[in-house]
Amino acid sequence: NDTGDGYVDHETASDRNPYTGQPFSDLYYELEEKRRALPVYQARQRIVDAVRRHRVVVLQGETGSGKTTQVPRFLLEAGFQRVVCTQPRRIAAVSVATRVAQEMDVCLGDLVGYTIRFEDVSHPKRTRLKYVTDGMLLREAFQDHMLSRYDCILLDEAHERTLSTDVLMGLIKNILPVRPALHVVVMSATLERDHFTTYFNQAPLLDVSGRMYPVDIRYEKQPVMDYIRAVEEKVQYIHEQEPAGDILLFLTGEEEIEDMCQRLRYYSRTVAKRGLGPLHVLPLYSALPLSHQQRVFEPANPPGARKVVVATNVAETSLTIDGISYVIDPGFAKSKIYNPSTRVESLLVSPISQDSAKQRAGRAGRTRAGVCYRLYTEDAFRTELQERSYPEILRCNLCNVVLTLKKLGIDDLIHFDFMDPPAPDTMIRALETLFYLGALDENVALTPLGTQMAEFPLDVQITRMLVESPRYRCSEEAVTLAAMLSVPNVFVRPRYRADEADARKERFVVSDSDHATLVCVFEAFVKHDHDARWCSENFLNDRALLHAVNIRRQLASMLKQMGLPLCSPGIRAPDRWVRLRRCVLAGFLMQTAFWVRRRDYMTIRDEQVVGLHPSSVVRHRPAWVVFHEFVLTTGNYIRTVSQIEPEWLFELSTKYYDLTEYKDGASRRALELAAGLRKMRRHGTA
Ligand code: ADP
Ligand code: MG
Repeated sequence: NDTGDGYVDHETASDRNPYTGQPFSDLYYELEEKRRALPVYQARQRIVDAVRRHRVVVLQGETGSGKTTQVPRFLLEAGFQRVVCTQPRRIAAVSVATRVAQEMDVCLGDLVGYTIRFEDVSHPKRTRLKYVTDGMLLREAFQDHMLSRYDCILLDEAHERTLSTDVLMGLIKNILPVRPALHVVVMSATLERDHFTTYFNQAPLLDVSGRMYPVDIRYEKQPVMDYIRAVEEKVQYIHEQEPAGDILLFLTGEEEIEDMCQRLRYYSRTVAKRGLGPLHVLPLYSALPLSHQQRVFEPANPPGARKVVVATNVAETSLTIDGISYVIDPGFAKSKIYNPSTRVESLLVSPISQDSAKQRAGRAGRTRAGVCYRLYTEDAFRTELQERSYPEILRCNLCNVVLTLKKLGIDDLIHFDFMDPPAPDTMIRALETLFYLGALDENVALTPLGTQMAEFPLDVQITRMLVESPRYRCSEEAVTLAAMLSVPNVFVRPRYRADEADARKERFVVSDSDHATLVCVFEAFVKHDHDARWCSENFLNDRALLHAVNIRRQLASMLKQMGLPLCSPGIRAPDRWVRLRRCVLAGFLMQTAFWVRRRDYMTIRDEQVVGLHPSSVVRHRPAWVVFHEFVLTTGNYIRTVSQIEPEWLFELSTKYYDLTEYKDGASRRALELAAGLRKMRRHGTA
């Protein structure tokens, strides 16, 4: 079977699996037939030859042509020893690895495996084909700067231009000259291909697109006011009027998706009475357990049934679901937006790009002709959607990128070869923030604290809070808080039962701290055994809380791994919440504000007037607060706040509150007042 150059040719292979020595299973033959029908399979030899001949190859092909599942395997079979393939999304890495292991008829975690944050299903020696998130590969590079374990690296979904993929591309460009045996494949779904070939010094481009069927695009005549309603009606219309074929619809996030699934399931219970076939409703988003994720790939059952998959952007290019004939595209997605002048990074629901809209439509035409319903006007498509999305590196704060590069031993940030260099403003903001947080010193070198912080795949402020928490003897509480800050709002407040909901919330309130209140909610949830009924009685979102339990477990084990002790003053200790508030301040030290009038506060340094968010439990107007986030809605608000004592500001190891750094103004006066009070108090007690 071996063709002499390490290439195992399955056309002439026997009925024994060359990797296990076992006879092939029935599933193997079934999947083998499917994969041979993929467009990429025809191009197999061309791909292998190109990768052998060149150091970098750019491979472009429509979503669903088989790039992710097939190309890494071709290269493994062509004799590469260790192949790694990156994915921007966790869910894609897991799902694809699972599929490839099935196709090769091997156990997942052995020859084929995956590694995502907090979850490693691979074997250090035996795994030769590994799917990883792009962030994980970067993390591997912390230990192994040259990525010397791998002789073949595939950067998949490069068109998504995530932060980590962009950094990896720069890193790999640096590594290529020093590792002559390394081969790299950049895979993308059609877009920005010139960008990639130019960046990698005129790397050859292979196009493996297969046949695509026509997709009929239907626009709305009038702008849609309520896209949720519109989506629901469209699904009903398709199910009642249009011929067989599954539906894929795009929404912005978990909450919206679960909501829609509930509405659609309600509808699906009524269809049988009207003589329609069954409608199966399936959610798809990254926090969904793996077994549920896999369900979207199963054909609707019995024949005549229709499946509707309600997905986030993950179904745009990362995952291909076969049999989709109808796509419903409301035209929105959540995306990160950063404003360096206010230092505010937010995840906002915003219009998608024309490129995204085209990708979404394409999902309807993979296996036969289809229809895409765009829930916006043709005019809006042309005038309101930008042509393509900006790469993430231009849209987010760069603190983590800087920490990552420093940890990779790359000191010259200015000359690092980014595909799209970030704005200087944003870079300076990041350096400044890291300096004040104590992660970088005056010479822009990583401090021991910074080295530790770089290990955490979290926002730098939360990271500093965690790393500092043992010093305040409240790391148990801090870990809980970090988990709660990573999930959507846990408080449910239906408009028609708002008073009732508010009254229930009172039970958990710690009056000087929204942060402590969150910890109380979490602890009560655990005490009640994660009971969903208890949650609904108390107007709490049990899904978000379960998610927090999961994240907490992972964070706690990270802390342990890093030798940071898990400790608590005890639930009855009178200073428990004081410790937590100080600890929050140690992380969010750049996000403080002082009271000016009514519910208004002024942020330190930037001197913006902001209101205390109406949801805050802090009502006694403390002179100083630390806040978790800045929300821009109808007004400017700070949300999730805790009272702090101004003298704490001067006890932090940071230059941020050094008076000499302030021009005359409200902030300086407020700090001077605080410093004065501190001095008086000291003398009083001395
Ligand atoms: P590409 O990367 O080019 O978008 P993929 O390699 O992801 O294409 O997909 C190729 C085929 O494999 C598709 O038909 C897809 O439906 C199928 N496939 C991929 N992952 C799974 C999975 N986890 N379960 C079932 N089918 C899958
Ligand atoms: Mg893919």
